[in-house]
Amino acid sequence: MTAKILDGAALARTIRAQCAVRAAALTKAGTQPGLAVILVGEDPASSVYVRHKVKDCEESGIRSILERMPADTTEAALLARVEALNADPSVHGILVQLPLPPQINERRVIESISPDKDVDGFHVVNAGALMTGEPRFLPCTPYGVMKILEDAGVELSGAEVVVVGRSNIVGKPQAMLLLQRNATVTICHSRTRDLAAHCRRADVLVAAVGKARMITAEMVKPGAVVIDVGMNRIPDGPNVGKLCGDVDFDGVSKVAGAITPVPGGVGPMTRAMLLVNTLEAAERDHAAGNPPVAKAI
Ligand code: NDP
Repeated sequence: MTAKILDGAALARTIRAQCAVRAAALTKAGTQPGLAVILVGEDPASSVYVRHKVKDCEESGIRSILERMPADTTEAALLARVEALNADPSVHGILVQLPLPPQINERRVIESISPDKDVDGFHVVNAGALMTGEPRFLPCTPYGVMKILEDAGVELSGAEVVVVGRSNIVGKPQAMLLLQRNATVTICHSRTRDLAAHCRRADVLVAAVGKARMITAEMVKPGAVVIDVGMNRIPDGPNVGKLCGDVDFDGVSKVAGAITPVPGGVGPMTRAMLLVNTLEAAERDHAAGNPPVAKAI
């Protein structure tokens, strides 16, 4: 079998085009959507991600504000910056790029963002809303994965789904979203006994581990849908340093029914869903009559 390639890059292009239409309509109605991105320090990977996010906004008609703060920024200074953006009515979404330098408590910073502007969906209020089935902002990566599955027409109701990874930003919210679509969800992690046996049961397998090519063909049921969230650097060999996923694409694509590539799968969808969340925040704000200060819960 040769798996169908689930082209996240193409789907992301379509979603970005839809976002541009929504942004133009909202701007015409008097509210230009605005996203503030805070980058603390100069981590090279974070700098690239932030540049992409700003470029995506520009191309979609969303105003972006990039705030760069030095690596020795204090937690108090960052919290003050977030507070000012919480109170700025022209800013509908706030994103603090992670990871943060060691002197700053990430959780405290995430919880300082107004839940109404938390377009990453990491605030405990939004995580709780997702858990109880009334989500407001979905974390961008799991949201993007759901869109890929929806676009591919994958039947989730009653399906055996295995999510490998249980982080707060990918694995756990991913499992919740799949559960809400009536899948039977198994979450695997580093202490799981016989990971391969769990994976082989999956009609849909989501890998969000952070280990280059660890999901191999023998771990995949023939015909399964395989979603590769991983973004790793190839550790050795002729392609050393190049981007690769958690899935051994060459082997698994001969067994799976459908598979996302890396790059060009989940990554572009994560970026696209940030635009969607920002637009949703701006549309809600506009519908509420553009209150000058977003209400923090
Ligand atoms: P984390 O490091 O926070 O979590 C990794 C998870 O994988 C943990 O739950 C860990 O288990 C589990 N794990 C580690 N080793 C094994 C193993 N040998 N067997 C089974 N489970 C294991 O990573 P993230 O969730 O933040 O990210 C996961 C991957 O997705 C990374 O490659 C990251 O770069 C990528 N990513 C990609 C995005 C995109 O847009 N495409 C966005 C976000 C992340 P335990 O909890 O027991 O430690």
